[in-house]
Amino acid sequence: MYHGLVNDDFPEEIRNFLITYSQNSSRDSAGIARYLNHSCAPNVGVRGLFTLVAMREIKIGEELCWDYDMSEDIDWQMDCSCGSPECRRSIRGFRFLPEDVREKYRGFISDWLVEKYHLKKD
Ligand SMILES: [Zn+2]
Repeated sequence: MYHGLVNDDFPEEIRNFLITYSQNSSRDSAGIARYLNHSCAPNVGVRGLFTLVAMREIKIGEELCWDYDMSEDIDWQMDCSCGSPECRRSIRGFRFLPEDVREKYRGFISDWLVEKYHLKKD
């Protein structure tokens, strides 16, 4: 499933739960983010660096999912089979997100990527 490790310095049990917050820094996503799956049609997005917020109204019982490319842009790749009609089949980092997807995610992208790519925040 994983084609590259996010950061070899982290203990193995944490590596798959890292969230990047600068070009060279990651940490354990901890909290609820650790338990949410990726989706190419997310209902949750990133606010700031580590806060997840609803992107739309979420029904009771609906699975919370975010798009890992909202916070990741390092040399890492994961196959995706989220099943959504919008599925990109591969999670490879923000730099590979199509322009229309970036626009759809505006306001829900990690601050470090907003700064790196000089994006409009809202
Ligand atoms: Zn997908």
